[in-house]
Amino acid sequence: MTAVETHEFQAETRQLLDLMVHSVYSEKEIFLRELISNASDALDKVRLQAAQFHDKPLDVSDLHIRLETDSGTRTLTITDNGVGMNKEEAVQLLGTIARSGTKDFLNRLKEKEKSGESADLIGQFGIGFYSSFIVAEEVIVDSLRYDSDEAVLWTSKGDGTFAVAEGSRKERGTTLTLKLRPVDEENGLRDFTTFWTLKEIVKRHSDFIRYPIRMSRAVTAGDPPVTSMQEEVLNSMKALWSRPKEEVTEEEYREFYQHISKDWNEPLETLAIKAEGTFEYESLLFIPSKAPMDMMMQDHRGGLQLFVRRVLISDRCEELLPTYLRFIRGVVDANDLPLNLSRELLQKERQIEQIRKHLTRKVGDALKAMKRDEPEKFQTFWEQFGRLLKEGIYQDAARRDALLEVSLFHSTHGEGWVSLEDYKSRMAEGQDSIYFLTGENLQQLRESPHLEAFTKQGVEVLLFNEPVDEVWLSVVHEFQEKKFLSAAQGQLELGSEEEKKKAQETREQQNKEMATFLSWMGSKLDDVKEVRVSSRLHESPACLVTEENGVSPHFEKLMKAMGQEMPAQPRILEINPDHPFVQKLQSRYDEKQDQDELNTWAHLLYSLALLAEGGELTKPAEFTRQVAQALSKSL
Ligand code: ADP
Repeated sequence: MTAVETHEFQAETRQLLDLMVHSVYSEKEIFLRELISNASDALDKVRLQAAQFHDKPLDVSDLHIRLETDSGTRTLTITDNGVGMNKEEAVQLLGTIARSGTKDFLNRLKEKEKSGESADLIGQFGIGFYSSFIVAEEVIVDSLRYDSDEAVLWTSKGDGTFAVAEGSRKERGTTLTLKLRPVDEENGLRDFTTFWTLKEIVKRHSDFIRYPIRMSRAVTAGDPPVTSMQEEVLNSMKALWSRPKEEVTEEEYREFYQHISKDWNEPLETLAIKAEGTFEYESLLFIPSKAPMDMMMQDHRGGLQLFVRRVLISDRCEELLPTYLRFIRGVVDANDLPLNLSRELLQKERQIEQIRKHLTRKVGDALKAMKRDEPEKFQTFWEQFGRLLKEGIYQDAARRDALLEVSLFHSTHGEGWVSLEDYKSRMAEGQDSIYFLTGENLQQLRESPHLEAFTKQGVEVLLFNEPVDEVWLSVVHEFQEKKFLSAAQGQLELGSEEEKKKAQETREQQNKEMATFLSWMGSKLDDVKEVRVSSRLHESPACLVTEENGVSPHFEKLMKAMGQEMPAQPRILEINPDHPFVQKLQSRYDEKQDQDELNTWAHLLYSLALLAEGGELTKPAEFTRQVAQALSKSL
């Protein structure tokens, strides 16, 4: 490669660069954190190559990062002896936005720009390599990949294009040279060529980096004074997870979290976990404060960083936590695993399984404690990640009860969250079941006719409005010996034993008295398998219920949405014998009025029941015509 090739940046990259160049953000020093983080990642990667690569041994005995400055030419150089990049990688990695979060960031930025709040966001978010343009007029990358013999030189002024040519590096790794903009303290452009400034920034943002960040400074001593260059390591390099929790500051944890998660919000909770004995490991886990936008997508991946004796083995080891805890970020450093773990081995390794069990329990304990001691914080957590824990109720039979204990739900008892224990403590005398209603939105659920009898009797009903609720309900039948019962399923009796018995008798009596009418209506309505008298209703004329152990319409809809075959589930129409609509319809029927008209009324009654629970009519136009006709007659 001799010629210089010029490339255009991707549109999104250009947008981002433009932002960097014109950034008004005052904490411009964050660029160094980003570049050191990249260098550290490159060192991790070469270390892993060395552990797995056997053809040609790689020397990883002195992995480090070096800072050099020249105040005359106003340059800052950041060098690492990591994996390096070849030409294709330099074009690809430094010319496009690889990170999915960046698009999200740009979108948020566009929103915030309107309100003039964009500046802060830049500081919170990691913008990686491109942050160099916050402080540099020109960026020059000279890199040699560990298995290549030709270096690449990548240069750009951040103006829409970049050039690649042959580089001059002879040793594996990357040299990044920043041609710094003039110092402008007022706008946060400090003098990034001075030793003390850089040391302070490294200490603040990159102290935990596990490789030495070296820099030389001029030291004058003796008589006559002699000036010599002395090298210093700027960071303490302590692996955060191996330090006692009391010794680590919140700030350090936060920086570390941001380094590994690329999430620029604060973590909600930090857990330092240590296991000793037959399998030893140390772990640092973080619960994010915000769920990423793609958390519920099929291709969203979780995973923790896995180290074996301080060597990074995998950046996203998904086997270390069950999938329902995929929102957790962090590291595990294990003592007794082999370094050359392949994916297949990872899945089989017994120790990994033991670590997973242990971590899962620790996370469970932490959540339980948070719920008990910091209920507001737990609520924040639940609002972000509750859906995933509910997946756990289904997936993890061993931890099912523990998960149910911390779960929060909506209910007819006010607007806030309730736990199953809260619910139990409010159960009425003689109530031996936990009642719930499932559906797709809370408002609809709250207004559902199925709740009328409950409201009247003051019996609380849990409102399950998430698809995942149907999933866990399919395997959970009780909580602490109280059965879960759907408010829209089977026969319903509320109150004391005596009241229940009485209600049942009354209902049976009514069913008997209305038998011919009910069976006539059943014969007219194809979509229902039975019409019967209800003890659920007070204000509405009718509602639809499912047989005991039947499938709810919400579940049916979900399955269909997922492309699953699902035979239609005929339901039961329950009618309110005290409602004037029902009473009048029955007297018309008894008077043997016009069959067509009676038929229409019966269908209207059914449609009303379907609409009330948020169902969809198969023939909405016909329904409105019939209603209009009926209304015009009564007007
Ligand atoms: P991120 O680090 O989040 O992936 P960046 O824009 O900072 O995003 O960097 C893009 C990619 O460029 C990195 O993922 C890495 O592959 C490569 N890269 C950046 N800096 C270096 C470096 N010092 N050595 C080797 N590769 C690097």
